[in-house]
Amino acid sequence: MLEVGAHYRQDTIQLITAERALTERAAEALLASSPFVRCFPCLAIQLRVTERTVRDAAQIMVWRDDFGVERRPCYDCNRIERVLIGQKK
Ligand SMILES: [Zn+2]
Repeated sequence: MLEVGAHYRQDTIQLITAERALTERAAEALLASSPFVRCFPCLAIQLRVTERTVRDAAQIMVWRDDFGVERRPCYDCNRIERVLIGQKK
């Protein structure tokens, strides 16, 4: 029982670490290309992760109030899409 609990904790720690790393990488990428913005599919390509993973990270970033979501033309694909915009604090 103790071993199962230990494995579960390890998995959870790895998941949290991966999540934190991605939100930081996404924030860095977005701020580096500012004022140009990228839609979620293009941001996913830039970060070499799935679009779903980017959207999950985006939810956390918006929830933290670091980024907001607006409709803007994407720098890469030119489609007008929902993009993350850094919040001026
Ligand atoms: Zn795009």
